[in-house]
Amino acid sequence: MSTGTGWRDIPIGGLVVEAGNSIRYKTGGWRAFRPLRDEEQCTQCLMCWLYCPDSSILVEGGQVVGFDLEHCKGCGVCASVCPKKVEVHARTKQPGKVIQLVEEGSELCQ
Ligand code: SF4
Ligand code: SF4
Repeated sequence: MSTGTGWRDIPIGGLVVEAGNSIRYKTGGWRAFRPLRDEEQCTQCLMCWLYCPDSSILVEGGQVVGFDLEHCKGCGVCASVCPKKVEVHARTKQPGKVIQLVEEGSELCQ
């Protein structure tokens, strides 16, 4: 007979048994698309930081400095809410927004 973990030892599904533990779940591995920001054309309005559902917009001293790619799921909310349009994005070379999504693993992610 097995002496492993019994069902009474397993937390009931759906319960958060310990506060502040989401940082341990590296959800970045789910990402199919990666956000890229044009640093020069960013106005630092912080809309992306406000709306990111995974707190993956990194801010230092009130300025966006990058993305937390260990947790960013590539949902695109940041790109959607970014109000700043660009004629040419510095990294994708495409018109659109300051934040644009590119396929994860593409050469633009280097
Ligand atoms: S793609 Fe989604 S999870 Fe990633 S930084 Fe943008 S809003 Fe946050
Ligand atoms: S929403 Fe766009 S313009 Fe505003 S801080 Fe984020 S990247 Fe920059």
